[in-house]
Amino acid sequence: MLNKLIADILPHMPKRLVWVFSKRYIAGETIEEGLLASKFLNQKNMEVTVDLLGEFIETQQEAEANKNQYLEIIERFTEEKVTGNFSLKPTMFGLLFDKEICYTHIREIVKFAVEKNSFVRIDMEDSQCVDREIELFQKLHKEFPKNVGLVVQSYLRRTLSDLEALKEFHSENTPLNFRLCKGIYVEPEKVAFKNYEEIRQHYLEDLEFLFKNGMITGIATHDKFLVENAFRLIEQYQVPKERYEFQMLYGVTPELRQQIIDKGHRMRVYVPFGKHWFNYSTRRLKENPKMAQQIIKALFIR
Ligand code: FAD
Repeated sequence: MLNKLIADILPHMPKRLVWVFSKRYIAGETIEEGLLASKFLNQKNMEVTVDLLGEFIETQQEAEANKNQYLEIIERFTEEKVTGNFSLKPTMFGLLFDKEICYTHIREIVKFAVEKNSFVRIDMEDSQCVDREIELFQKLHKEFPKNVGLVVQSYLRRTLSDLEALKEFHSENTPLNFRLCKGIYVEPEKVAFKNYEEIRQHYLEDLEFLFKNGMITGIATHDKFLVENAFRLIEQYQVPKERYEFQMLYGVTPELRQQIIDKGHRMRVYVPFGKHWFNYSTRRLKENPKMAQQIIKALFIR
C-alpha cells in the first residue's frame, strides 16, 4: 500500500524534489564524493563496499563505459587507501542482452581488483537475472576463488536450494562468500515469499545454512529482529570473526549500525554514488516507513 503510493507519486515529482529525499541514501554523483563518504566511514571503524549506480542498460557502448568507470573507481579507491571492496550489478554490463560480453567486462574488473588485492561482490537483481548471475559467479569463482562473492535473497523460494547446489564449490581453503539480504525487487508470488514474517524465517534458515557450512557471510539487514537472531546464531555456531560481517546501506539506521559496532562486530556500509541515482533511490524511499507522509507534504507545500 505504502510502496504503491510512493511508486505512483515519485515518477511525477520533479527530479530536484526527489533528490531532496534521496540524498541521504547516496554519497553523491562523483568519485570524489564517493571517496569522501567512504573515508569518513573508515574513520568511524566501518569498511565500505562501493557501488557505481546504474542498471539495466541497453547498449554495448554503455556496458563498455561502465566497465571503464569501474576500473577508474578501483584505481582511485585503492590509490587513496580506502578500506573496502566493490559491488556491481551485472545488468550494468549487458547481462540481459549479451551475457558473454557482460562476463568479459566483469572478468576484467575482477582481474583488476585482484591485482589491487581487492574483492568484487556481484549484487543480485530481479528474478529474471538469477540463473545468469549464479552462472557468472561460478565462472569467476573458478578463476578468482578468493576475490569474488555473490548476493542471495531470502525472499526467493529457490534460495536455499541454490545454496545447496553451490556448496560443491566451497572448501575450507577457498570458502564461498555470500551477502544475504531479504531482496528488494517486486516479484510474483510463485517466485518469492510475500509475507514479512515468512521472509524473516527464510532469512534465518539461509543464515544458519551459511554458518553451518563455514561460508563467509555478509549479514545485510537493518531489521533488528534479524540482527538479534544473527547474534544468537553467531554464538551458537561459534562463527569466527573473519567468517562474517554485518552490512548496511548508506544512510539507513545509523543508530543500529553503531550498536552493532559497539558490540565488537565488523560492519561494512554499501556506498552508492553516480549520476544514475533515481531507480536506486526510489527503492530506498519505498522502504522508508516514514517517507509517504513527507513526500505528500512536500508536494502540497510547494
Ligand atoms: P526491512 O524490514 O525492510 O527494514 C527493517 C527496518 O530498517 C525498517 O523497519 C526501518 O526501520 C529500517 N529501514 C529499512 N530501509 C530503510 C530506508 N530505506 N529508510 C529508512 N529506514 C529504513 N537487495 C537485493 O535485492 N539485491 C542486492 O544485491 C542487495 N544488496 C544489499 C546490500 C546491503 C548492504 C543491504 C543492507 C541491502 C541490500 N539489498 C539488496 C536490499 C535488501 O534486499 C532489502 O531490501 C533492504 O535491506 C531492506 O530490508 P531489511 O532487511 O533491512 O528489512
